[in-house]
Amino acid sequence: MTTVLVIGGGIAGYCAAMAARRDGADVTLVARAPGATALYAGAMEVIDDLDGILQRQPHHPITRLGLDSVRLATELDTAIHTLQLALEKEGLKLAGTWRTRGLYADIHGVARAGNVVPASVAGGELRALSGKRVAVIGVKEIGDYDAASTALALNELHGIEAFPEEVSIPDLPPAPSLTDLYGRRAPLPSRSRSNAIAYPPGFTNLPQDGFELLASPPSPHGWRLQQAIAHSTLRAEISSFETARGRVISAKAAERTFRADAFVLATGRHIGGGIVGGRVAAEPLLNLGVFHDGSPVARLGTRLQHMQYLDPAAELRAGLATDRWLHPLDGDGHGIYDNLYAAGAVLGGYDYSGPCGFGVPILTGWLAGRFAAKQSA
Ligand SMILES: Cc1cc2nc3c(=O)[nH]c(=O)nc-3n(C[C@H](O)[C@H](O)[C@H](O)COP(=O)(O)OP(=O)(O)OC[C@H]3O[C@@H](n4cnc5c(N)ncnc54)[C@H](O)[C@@H]3O)c2cc1C
Repeated sequence: MTTVLVIGGGIAGYCAAMAARRDGADVTLVARAPGATALYAGAMEVIDDLDGILQRQPHHPITRLGLDSVRLATELDTAIHTLQLALEKEGLKLAGTWRTRGLYADIHGVARAGNVVPASVAGGELRALSGKRVAVIGVKEIGDYDAASTALALNELHGIEAFPEEVSIPDLPPAPSLTDLYGRRAPLPSRSRSNAIAYPPGFTNLPQDGFELLASPPSPHGWRLQQAIAHSTLRAEISSFETARGRVISAKAAERTFRADAFVLATGRHIGGGIVGGRVAAEPLLNLGVFHDGSPVARLGTRLQHMQYLDPAAELRAGLATDRWLHPLDGDGHGIYDNLYAAGAVLGGYDYSGPCGFGVPILTGWLAGRFAAKQSA
């Protein structure tokens, strides 16, 4: 049986481990901490225009796979279906497919697109709310959320008949914030005036006509997803690799060495720690090539400013480049290790806060896991 080590506890690492196991491999998944996945707002953007990417974005990780749109669509269908089944077993139900696209409001009433969303968010699809009277739940004691402004934004920005409905939760800690609502049972408003109820994210046991708004960090949606995918993860920080004759032999953590036939690097970008900023962006574990629009950043001298990770500036598209089997390349554009694969936001060539925010990690994670499982010892 092929042994696979997946490094990275975000959505990319989870999909890689899931695919490799499904293809019969013995998989170990390690991560040092939650990454960007734990911060996502609650609407998974998978892909908006597959053909447009293939035609116009040669350095996009999906284009670099060298697959036609039919094969990519099939892999995405299977990956997302399998992911939904796996997460449902962990208690997190998702709705939608990569072919569906909805608009969902966040806690400020601003719309964000999403293909796949938690089932608890799905009822808030903005077009489906048209013609309904929406009660926006506010909690009197909470200082960092204003249901009245959200209701106003839903009305003014999206033409939805929305009104605030304040409830009181007296047993909250002093000076509570939205995070203090996490895991509490949803309070019920007076039912007379609404036929849909918008809740700030975090409550459980929503009524049938209730839905959750999207979050801003820290995100209850991200935290729930992170908890659901963390069950099979070992806590370890990989600090170096042993390599020989074009292969990775083992990955070393402080107290343990992990040997495997194949390795998947799903270490994320600046938040996960797969790419480090500084004068020139670098990949810290194997000194792999980091590229910006097809050119090695070492030659461009691109400067990544500290903490710019939330800004989708062009330079933040820098990351690893891979061949069609997801083998990462060195700074000269050559594959180095036959049994090393890379997946997720560690890959460059796309804006990870954009319309493939989850699509690249899910698809490349899935395929990296499948390729790794076929690796011979
Ligand atoms: C604030 C924010 C909001 C977002 N909202 C959305 C959204 O609503 N919709 C959307 O589609 N996309 C969104 N995105 C983008 C999306 O969240 C990311 O693209 C995606 O989660 C990346 O997943 P990943 O698995 O590649 O990386 P990550 O989730 O960052 O995971 C990387 C993992 O690698 C581990 N790791 C790194 N180095 C090591 C090491 N040496 N040893 C062991 N483990 C290591 C980290 O600890 C972490 O577990 C958002 C991003 C941000 C930052």
